[in-house]
Amino acid sequence: MKLKNKVALITGNGNGIGKTTALLLSKEGASIVGTDINEKSGKQTVNEINNQGGDAIFIQHDVSNDDNWKSVINKALSTFGTIDILFNNAGLFIIKPLLETTIEEWNHLMNVNVTGTFLGMKHVIPIMIENKGGVVINASSNAGLFGATGLTLYGASKGAVRIMTKDAAMEFAPYNIRVNSIHPGYIKTQMIEYAAKVANKEPEDQANFVPLKRLGNTLEVANMVLYLVSDEASYITGSEFVLDGGVSAGQSVWEQE
Ligand code: ADP
Repeated sequence: MKLKNKVALITGNGNGIGKTTALLLSKEGASIVGTDINEKSGKQTVNEINNQGGDAIFIQHDVSNDDNWKSVINKALSTFGTIDILFNNAGLFIIKPLLETTIEEWNHLMNVNVTGTFLGMKHVIPIMIENKGGVVINASSNAGLFGATGLTLYGASKGAVRIMTKDAAMEFAPYNIRVNSIHPGYIKTQMIEYAAKVANKEPEDQANFVPLKRLGNTLEVANMVLYLVSDEASYITGSEFVLDGGVSAGQSVWEQE
């Protein structure tokens, strides 16, 4: 087991990548603090973990709320004593033309995706400094790497997460704290179902854009997170890891079968 005696805090643990990662890190021995704004799905993940012999607690939590973070930290520390791993995974997704995006939508998504990631690091890193080490993974996206129609707001938020990750990696390297970002794209989650709906397509149709000609699955992303938070990745910090089946590699100059 790669994460024996480690405590991992995972935000947005109720669905998709957050859920699969919580289950995987638990299988590798970590105690899990799962948080989500959605109590039902977040609790369900934690119940699955505990039914499989893992050790997990759920705390309902809005990542954009500073006071909520304070209670999450208190509960995590009173239950498990520390936090070794932070996965800032909770997030919102929207596809909308720039001119139709409202200021309310802009502020809400930025608050969750950007401020939520900032607050996660702000509240957890002091514990890691005390521990003389820790690992943070911030969920960006391949949309944080290049432009896309309809993704001005989402892409801006994920671009911000990408750079915040590098800044924090620099700032906390002296404390043996590693900070890296992951950049998934075209993963089979609620997000891809929504994206397909907007485009009037089936989720699997989205695979046509992908050089590997299939959607990714959440376990493929969770495996990357597991690697990055394990000691196997001990020399990796300030780096970005793309999991998008080759979409961001470049442009095709001819049609491929
Ligand atoms: P992904 O593709 O990253 O897996 P999902 O939409 O499936 O995306 O999961 C994102 C998770 O983040 C959901 O469980 C959702 O309830 C959670 N979430 C959304 N907003 C917040 C928030 N403000 N605070 C905490 N969790 C949130």
